Amino acid sequence: MSTEHSATPAAESKAEAPAEFAGRTALITGGASGIGLALARRLAAGGAAVVVADYDEESARKAAAELESAGARAAAVAMDVTDPASVEAGVRFAVDTFGALHLAVNNAGIAGPSTPTGAYPVEDWNRVVATNLSGVFHSMRYELPAIVAAGGGAIVNMSSILGTNGFAGSPAYVAAKHGVVGLTKTAALEYAGQNVRINAVGPGFIDTPLLRNTDPGAREHLISLHPAGRLGTAEEVAELAAFLLSEKASFIHGSYHLVDGGYSAP
Ligand code: NDP
Repeated sequence: MSTEHSATPAAESKAEAPAEFAGRTALITGGASGIGLALARRLAAGGAAVVVADYDEESARKAAAELESAGARAAAVAMDVTDPASVEAGVRFAVDTFGALHLAVNNAGIAGPSTPTGAYPVEDWNRVVATNLSGVFHSMRYELPAIVAAGGGAIVNMSSILGTNGFAGSPAYVAAKHGVVGLTKTAALEYAGQNVRINAVGPGFIDTPLLRNTDPGAREHLISLHPAGRLGTAEEVAELAAFLLSEKASFIHGSYHLVDGGYSAP
């Protein structure tokens, strides 16, 4: 996929940036929708320059324009995380546009069909693993050298409660999200000494477009799995990820953090 963009140079920033992420550039994959969009808003409100990277270029542009109109520095880039060349170009775009990359949220993901393992379509397995696991590897593969070159920073990889629990009918999703946890820990070990913190977040079921194909009965069942009695919101996940990206989390390396309404407590 080609890489296109729109950007507002730093000098045109309209708002006084709060201190939390001031001077930091953040790249968010899947940043045009759901959890990624909530994070884009949260990091921009905290003063970061935000690069919204998404498969859906039109939505990425819309998201970046919204951030800019709220006074933030923002840019959009079309990125397919399954394609290493597209990811490399997107990371280069972030560095070229804002001068450096400090923060990344590897969040792009898809659900895949609900089918038992013995009947799961091979092409869906390949698509889900390519997006949800290889996509995180491709992202870190190009983000890490850029973040190290910037003197350090932080990465959050979006796993799931299904990064440590099984879920009948979702073999590819569950396997990929478990993989994200292991990949996060490994990269964290490798880069802690270079001032890069890498952690994973495990949301429970969150009310985003990802659940768009869930019928009302299944939705009620999902809600019942959360002791909190409801689905989570994208903003609740964004708040945890923002904390992990911030200096407040300066001693947190290589761990997996739940935000799940109690799903994993039993
Ligand atoms: P959304 O569908 O709202 O957002 C995901 C975004 O990723 C979409 O904009 C989507 O684009 C984009 N995307 C999909 N494939 C690619 C790709 N190959 N390259 C770049 N971007 C891509 O989902 P959520 O916000 O709910 O999900 C965000 C992350 O959180 C995912 O990793 C998901 O697995 C995880 N998660 C979600 C939970 C939930 O219950 N919602 C629970 C636990 C984890 P497009 O719309 O064009 O496909």
